[in-house]
Amino acid sequence: MRAWTSPDLPSLDDLGPAPAVRIHDSASRGLFTTPVPRSQVGGHPEGSSPDAARMYVCGITPYDATHLGHAATYVAFDLLNRAWRAAGHEVRYVQNVTDVDDPLLERAAATGTDWVELAERETELFRADMTALRVIAPDEYVGAVESIPLVVELVHQLRERGFVYDVDGDLYFSVHADPRFGSVSGYDEARMTELFGERGGDPERRGKKHPLDCLLWQAERPGEPAWDSELGRGRPGWHVECSAIALHHLGEAFDVQGGGSDLVFPHHEMSAAEAQAAFDGLTFARAYVHAGMVGYEGEKMSKSKGNLVLVSRLREDGVDPMAIRLALLRHHYRSDWEWTDGDLTRAETWLADWRTAVTRPSGAATAEVVRAVRAALADDLDAPRATEAVRRWSVATNEGADTSEPGAGEVIRRLVDASLGIAL
Ligand code: ZN
Repeated sequence: MRAWTSPDLPSLDDLGPAPAVRIHDSASRGLFTTPVPRSQVGGHPEGSSPDAARMYVCGITPYDATHLGHAATYVAFDLLNRAWRAAGHEVRYVQNVTDVDDPLLERAAATGTDWVELAERETELFRADMTALRVIAPDEYVGAVESIPLVVELVHQLRERGFVYDVDGDLYFSVHADPRFGSVSGYDEARMTELFGERGGDPERRGKKHPLDCLLWQAERPGEPAWDSELGRGRPGWHVECSAIALHHLGEAFDVQGGGSDLVFPHHEMSAAEAQAAFDGLTFARAYVHAGMVGYEGEKMSKSKGNLVLVSRLREDGVDPMAIRLALLRHHYRSDWEWTDGDLTRAETWLADWRTAVTRPSGAATAEVVRAVRAALADDLDAPRATEAVRRWSVATNEGADTSEPGAGEVIRRLVDASLGIAL
């Protein structure tokens, strides 16, 4: 599937390497550090390529437009992508599109739309939103439909190992086949069962061996799309889609599996268990990273509640996407927070101040800002602290602080563009 066009990243080579990035891992509840590329460790031969940092972020189910909760998640992982690059990593980034699943088919049926057209239209709108927000595109942008052969292969492998069973033609995975099942979320069985029921699972379906066992392959239903395969005619389950795509395009033990915090369970737990049960000794992801939920008018922003603030709507209203991005960055990615109109007006004021400051012929000293921004981002993507450092510089510069550092504005412009993704 075609991704979107990545923004140009200005070079920061003259500023030297940024610190190694530490990021919060939900599974260990501690900080995970991707090792600094070997090429930067003393004594390593020049010209050797650095180890790629590998990231998989769960993509959209394209049945509605991108809201600010989605945008906050993808911007958070974009910060990680940028911080890794600044630390000298090559980054390999994969994202999926769940272009066949129940919510998409239900919306298509309810609105009398062809499901393929609906998916294509909403995916295109997502691309436009990501482009406007200057999010670096994934190296591989992969649809579920085009990945059906990968899913079939993985389910086949699980079946060979005896971890798959049939309920009225639908194929289920015995989740406890992976002895590490439960280690991503750390939830007990009661909590898992509750969340499984709330988030698209079917703990009460009769015929299952265990309430938490999850669907791998759904047999064809009347009026729904289906594909022929050795598993019978049907379509893939959601979790195994991500297991198969991530393993194929990134390999095992990739650095970060990312998404919103509502994906911790069941989605990331199930995806990891399916991959890990399929191959002895395999580790799916090394760290599981989750962005908080964005609320609006007192509730979590969600399609089902209908309280969405859409990126595309704001753009249509003439809001500068860079102000949207800055407003998102003013909240730490792991926090749950509520969007208000004040977020946007404050971000617009800051953005205007930054733009004024960088056009001055000289300004306040930059070395400390560079250090502070990079240190903040390397410390679990602390964008509020990073933006505060830029803010301090812009205030000092606009108030006339002048260390006669020529080109100060140009350094800050490149720093803010490459590190925070904000074009001034
Ligand atoms: Zn996923």
